[in-house]
Amino acid sequence: MSYTNFTLETDQDGIALVTWDMPGKSMNVITQEVLAELDAIVDQVAGDAAIKGAVITSGKAAFSGGADLSMIKGMFSFYEEQKAIDPDQAAAKLFELAGSLTRVFRKLETSGKPWVSAINGTCMGGAFELSLACHGRVASNLKSVKIALPEVKVGIFPGAGGTQRVPRLTNAQDALQMMTTGQSLTPQRAKAMGLVHALAEPDALIDTAKAMIRDGLKPVQPWDERGFKAPGGGIWTPASAQLWPAASGILRRETYGNYPGAHAILKCVYEGLQVPFDTGLKIEQRYFTEILQTTEAFSMIRSLFISMQELGKGARRPTGVARTKFETIGVVGAGFMGASIAYVAAAAGIGVVLIDRDEEAAAKGKAHSEGLVKDSVGKVRISQEEGVALLERITPSADYSALSGVKLVIEAVFEDRQVKTDVIAKVEAVLSEDAIFASNTSTLPISGLAKASKRPDRFIGIHFFSPVEKMMLTEVILGDQTGDAALAAALDFVGQIKKTPIVVNDTRGFYVNRCVFRYIHEAYDMLIEGVPPAMIENAAKMAGMPVGPLSLNDEVAIDLSQKILKASIADLGESSVDPRHMALIDRMVNDLDRRGRKNGKGFYDYPAKPAKKHLWPGLKELFPQKPAETIDVETLKQRFLVTIALEAARTIEEGIVTDPREADVGSILGFGFAPYTGGTLSYIDGMGSKAFVALCETLARDHGDHFQPTPLLKDMAARGETFYGRFDPYATVEKAA
Ligand code: NAD
Repeated sequence: MSYTNFTLETDQDGIALVTWDMPGKSMNVITQEVLAELDAIVDQVAGDAAIKGAVITSGKAAFSGGADLSMIKGMFSFYEEQKAIDPDQAAAKLFELAGSLTRVFRKLETSGKPWVSAINGTCMGGAFELSLACHGRVASNLKSVKIALPEVKVGIFPGAGGTQRVPRLTNAQDALQMMTTGQSLTPQRAKAMGLVHALAEPDALIDTAKAMIRDGLKPVQPWDERGFKAPGGGIWTPASAQLWPAASGILRRETYGNYPGAHAILKCVYEGLQVPFDTGLKIEQRYFTEILQTTEAFSMIRSLFISMQELGKGARRPTGVARTKFETIGVVGAGFMGASIAYVAAAAGIGVVLIDRDEEAAAKGKAHSEGLVKDSVGKVRISQEEGVALLERITPSADYSALSGVKLVIEAVFEDRQVKTDVIAKVEAVLSEDAIFASNTSTLPISGLAKASKRPDRFIGIHFFSPVEKMMLTEVILGDQTGDAALAAALDFVGQIKKTPIVVNDTRGFYVNRCVFRYIHEAYDMLIEGVPPAMIENAAKMAGMPVGPLSLNDEVAIDLSQKILKASIADLGESSVDPRHMALIDRMVNDLDRRGRKNGKGFYDYPAKPAKKHLWPGLKELFPQKPAETIDVETLKQRFLVTIALEAARTIEEGIVTDPREADVGSILGFGFAPYTGGTLSYIDGMGSKAFVALCETLARDHGDHFQPTPLLKDMAARGETFYGRFDPYATVEKAA
């Protein structure tokens, strides 16, 4: 028999080697076709007396990334369509689909022939669940191999037997930790937990796996043996009586009940461990069906998996411009941002000419990379040689002529129009005709800066976020005259350093900072109203934000907020800023010298370590507080999410952001907007534009005109439209093609 995605070779001992190697793909994923072929292979192995057992491995560097989430997205669409026709029938069909992987995996483990999974590389999600169904598991001993059940990160959970097999192999606490966080395990950790049986050198992997079968591996799983007991003794033990109340509490503390997928893991494990294995699988299938119907799962898969991948692959890249693979780039300004940009470029294999005002300042910029490399070598994240090569790629200099050969220069000098104007002239004097100039400015409009350029069509913004090494997002900013070649080159560069780009038209604050400052300003309003600061911070976290707004303002620096507010007044007039906000910030900065974390005092105090930061008690005197019980926490949560989502909607209405995927992904990667919502616009779509407009109107009545719904939103509400329907990103792609 021949297969499209697998090959099967049987050796003289009768052991079949099943190699998973999907044609035309860099990574194996589980699709309907893969599942059907696997089903047939299980039958073939079981039915052929000459085959004693099977080893399954991958023909690619990684074992597999798991289930193809587009397939799961297909399940959503199917369910939505069918629900309108016959809801009961639709739910029954969804239940059947939700069990499709489980059926094949269970058949494999009860087929009567021994199966061993030879995990040669990273093995994620459904693929690890397939491995768990095998009777033996051998993993490569390379530390770079990652093993994980990361489904919870996209709003679902391991629904192909993972919640039943993992806690029957390892103790419930480790099982819950692994699945509710989605964390990756090294092969060594997986072995210590009892999730793999053996580790092997990469070139001995298949032999080790085959030897397990030759040595008489029993084709029966522990849970199918008589008298099986889960590690730790199951649910009705003293240890469990301690674990479970704490587990629920910890999950609540970490998620505030915002992630139904994570909650379902607890339910599957708790209920599943009390019943026979097959009943446990049924329980898991039921919860999986339920989770697939949640808005959270739908929105998270769309934004955090599908859209993120599409944007990463250059969904917004103009067609018809040849791809650029950058060998060397220039970075001018080797300060806080420039030094980090140089590091991420060099880490991605790109040479960097790093320019500053003098040799010493440029060398100081490179020293940042030297520190990071030393750290990475020390922690064995990279080898000594890789570290040396990375540093060799960075050439510090004060001589602009070193930029003559590069195709891209990123400017990260002081945030001062005149300094930037001078630098643009100096760089353009040596730059080749077709090279691109990109500014990393955070507040100066690109079209204004481009006026200093002789070639505004090759002038663009690439806005990085701090810390550059960690933040996955970049905003690519188009000036009025930026051309396609500059956009394509900027996206090629962002792709090469493996960050996710969003393309934004020019505006004050671009996309991310416009939204972030709405978040911070709402906290100012709350302070002024007399909401206790701890309630402000906690309500924001309960709404799903990773960092409270006052804490965030301390990180950004309160004097930077002051500068931005003043710049708004200078450019747009007094009415552009709430005078109460200006007074609050002037008081903090001018009178109290509370500038944020950088000077050790802001909305928080920062005592010497090991003491932890805490809210500054003086805030109470500054703003007399109302009793906490008179304040509705639910409204506080809504105010944060709604004010940010409204700003995102305005950017769409103004044509600043043109693709809902970018607004959503940008909000999650840029400032951690409540990920369970799928992002700012998915938050609105998730509740429906009509409900959102009604909520805005209520908040506007009680908390200020900035909550007034915009004309676009009102129109969408009247028509019952969604952002993804009205601004369909796929329709735009077709039009452009
Ligand atoms: P910084 O002060 O740390 O670094 C600026 C560097 O530019 C200094 O090393 C300085 O010596 C150098 N410089 C100044 N004039 C120069 C000239 N004429 N020629 C060459 N080098 C010159 O500032 P930063 O925080 O790295 O910010 C740089 C840019 O990045 C600004 O435009 C800022 O708005 C933007 N930005 C900053 C952040 C952030 O979080 N700090 C985030 C995004 C964007």
